[in-house]
Amino acid sequence: MKPNPIVDELLPSPRRWGAEELSRLTEMVGQSSLFYWQGTQTAHLLAEFRRQYPLAYAFPCSSGSAALHIAAAALRLQPGEEVIVPAITDMGSVIGILYQQGVPVFADVDPRSFNLDPADVRRRITPRTRAIMAVHLAGNPCDMKALTAIAREHKLVVIEDCAQAWGARWQGEPVGLQGEVACYSFNDFKHISCGDGGMVATNAADLGTGLAKWGDKYYDRSTGGRDPGELAPNYRISEPQAAVAAAQLAKLGGIVAARERAGKFLTAKLADAPGLLLPQVRAGDTHSYWFYLLRLEPGRFRASRDEFAEALAAEGVACAAGYLSRPVYQYPVFQNHNFFAGYWPVRELGSTTMDYRQVSCPVAEDILKDCVKLTVNEAMTETYLAKVASAVRQVAQRLAK
Ligand SMILES: *Cc1c(COP(=O)(O)O)cnc(C)c1O
Repeated sequence: MKPNPIVDELLPSPRRWGAEELSRLTEMVGQSSLFYWQGTQTAHLLAEFRRQYPLAYAFPCSSGSAALHIAAAALRLQPGEEVIVPAITDMGSVIGILYQQGVPVFADVDPRSFNLDPADVRRRITPRTRAIMAVHLAGNPCDMKALTAIAREHKLVVIEDCAQAWGARWQGEPVGLQGEVACYSFNDFKHISCGDGGMVATNAADLGTGLAKWGDKYYDRSTGGRDPGELAPNYRISEPQAAVAAAQLAKLGGIVAARERAGKFLTAKLADAPGLLLPQVRAGDTHSYWFYLLRLEPGRFRASRDEFAEALAAEGVACAAGYLSRPVYQYPVFQNHNFFAGYWPVRELGSTTMDYRQVSCPVAEDILKDCVKLTVNEAMTETYLAKVASAVRQVAQRLAK
């Protein structure tokens, strides 16, 4: 940082866990079991989740990736069936698809919302397509009207990956209620956390009744029955995680309100800065700003994206040059089709001809080269955010052509 930076305060750090979590944990240590089926913390977590996300069937599990794997398994995705996913997302979106021998098909994203581009989703549909995975990136809701319309037309399932979108709302409704099945994460970096944890939920009875078994070795805890009829991993949550997650969910409203205010404040203050493409939010939607992603307009600056981010950091702005280093399909595991010890059985057996070396999503590739990620958190005051905005504007003016 240079002397006298514009942001001359330390990054505010919210206190994330406190009396509410302690109270749940204190109750928990009096229990005779920490098994999710026997304790009361998982029941509290479910009740709190349902209060905010009115979904008939929900299964708390060990991570967001676990939730997404359970969703793919509960759909009984067949080997070689395709799931359309955005090129910019977390690896956790696709792990479960691959373990179920499904095929992630990467689609391009919208240049301003960074979410699935419905027109490109349409182009990627084949007779093998089974589902569309709507990832609400950074907490900005996807175009669920367009995506659910495409799904209806082609008889596809919509899986919502809400891992980055706790508290986000599509047209006033919490995200996760528009598709067939919704997945959430409580990992340490999300809006709310219990260290690690997840939730998978649905209103569809045919999917919902199986969720618990698909995340618990296909044992049926309600009857005490074992004799599994399917192969399923152990993705159970435990009572300590559930205790913390339940307390965290109860605080979600306040956390999201503060982050939404912060995101809107930045957008308002940066609106007339030169050369910046700010995140676009659909009218009527609530972006919950897990982070704030902006783009540098090509040809407008006499500095590279990395130099721009360095200049921001020198002024005390908490930021990163970019988000992912590259689109997910360019990761070595995809480029080498190295999914199962160097093999990819569905391809070797002729159930897919997918070649990830041939995939191209030009908009996603551009975004990842020219985006800058600003840190947002619920402890940032308006005074602090005003300094951040002022620093970004001054850097943009100074480096503009
Ligand atoms: C964090 C994340 C996941 C995975 O969640 P984990 O709890 O880390 O397994 C999946 N999808 C997206 C979009 C994420 O951001």
